[in-house]
Amino acid sequence: MTLAELQKDLEARGEKPFRAKQMYEWMHVKLAEGFEEMTNLSKVLRENCKLWYTYTSLKTVQIQESKIDGTKKFLFGLYDGNVVESVCMKYRHGNSVCISSQVGCRMGCRFCASTLDGLERNLLPSEMLAQVYAVTRLTGERVSNVVVMGTGEPLDNYDNLLRFITLLTDENGLHISQRNVTVSTCGIVPKIRQLAEEHLQITLALSLHAATDEKRRRLMPIAERYSIAELMEACRYYFERTGRRITFEYSLVNGVNDTQEDAGRLAALAKPLNCHVNLIPVNPIKERDYVQSEAGRVRAFQNMLEKKQINGTIRREMGRDIDGACGQLRRRHLGSLPDSEGDGRA
Ligand code: SAH
Repeated sequence: MTLAELQKDLEARGEKPFRAKQMYEWMHVKLAEGFEEMTNLSKVLRENCKLWYTYTSLKTVQIQESKIDGTKKFLFGLYDGNVVESVCMKYRHGNSVCISSQVGCRMGCRFCASTLDGLERNLLPSEMLAQVYAVTRLTGERVSNVVVMGTGEPLDNYDNLLRFITLLTDENGLHISQRNVTVSTCGIVPKIRQLAEEHLQITLALSLHAATDEKRRRLMPIAERYSIAELMEACRYYFERTGRRITFEYSLVNGVNDTQEDAGRLAALAKPLNCHVNLIPVNPIKERDYVQSEAGRVRAFQNMLEKKQINGTIRREMGRDIDGACGQLRRRHLGSLPDSEGDGRA
C-alpha cells in the first residue's frame, strides 16, 4: 500500500491517521521485518494488524560472496516456498542491487537460465521491495541503485512493477531517485509504449542482443512477435516522451552475433537514438552450448562501435564464481533438492 492508501484503510478501521505514517516508516525506512517490531504502536494495534494485513518478509535461504569482487548473491524464500535471487554489486558510486521481478520467466531467451522452467508466478510489489530491503539489512549498507535485471521480464508484470517503483522512490520511504532505477526488458513493444506515458525518470535498458531480425529470432523468441524496426520505433517514442536515453544490452555469443558486420549494424541502430551500448560477454550456462566471445573479438566489436561514434562499455563480469548470471543460483538450489521438495523439473 502507498502511504495514502494505508492512511485511508486505517482510518476506515477507526485508527488515527498518524498511525499510518508511523507504520509506513517502520516498513519502508526502518525496514522492520514484522509488526512486532513496531514498538511505538500499542500491542493491541500490532495484533490487529496481523489480522488485517499480510506483511511480506523474505527468508534468507542462502548468501554467497564472491572472493573476486565482493559481489553478494542472495537466495530468498517467499511465503509459498518459491525462491528468488537478488545480487548486490559494489561499485565506486555505491551499491547496486539487482532484483528479480518474477519467479521464473516465460520469455524463453535461449542463453538464459531463468527461463528454462518457464514462469511460475509474478512477484508482488512487496516481494520486489523486500529484496531491496533485505539486502540493505543484511549488508548494513545503503543501496543507491536498483536494477530490475534479475529473473523475470519486468514488463510482463507491469502493474506490480509500477507500484514497486512508486514505493521504492517514495519520499516517505527509502526514497531512491528514479534516475537510479533501471528496468531491463527483452522488448515487449506495447508495454514500452505504455511505460513511456507514465512520466517516470527511470532508465530503460533494452536487451537487443542482435542487430538483424533473423539473428535475434535465433536468440530470443520475443523477436518472432516484434521486429527490430518496431522496437526502434517504440524506443524513439520512449525517448520523445520521457527525455531519457535508452541503453542497449548486447550479450556477445561467440560466432553468433559478434562479427564486425554485427557491430556495424548495431551502431546504425544505436546512432539515431544516441544509445549507450552495454556489451556483455555471454555467461555460459550448462544447459546450452553458447560460448563467450573471445576477449579480442569483444574489443574489436567495441572498437567498431567507437569508430561509428557509439559508446560501448564492456560490462565487467562480476560474481563469476558464485553463479552470478540470471537464474543460475535458483536453478542450482532447486536441482539440489530431492524431488518431493523441489518442483521435480530442475
Ligand atoms: N527480462 C529482462 C530482464 C532480465 S535479464 C530482459 O530480458 O532484459 C537481464 C539481462 O541479462 C538481459 O539483457 C538478458 O538478456 C541478459 N542475460 C540473461 N542470461 C544471460 C547470460 N547467460 N549471459 C549474458 N547475459 C544474459
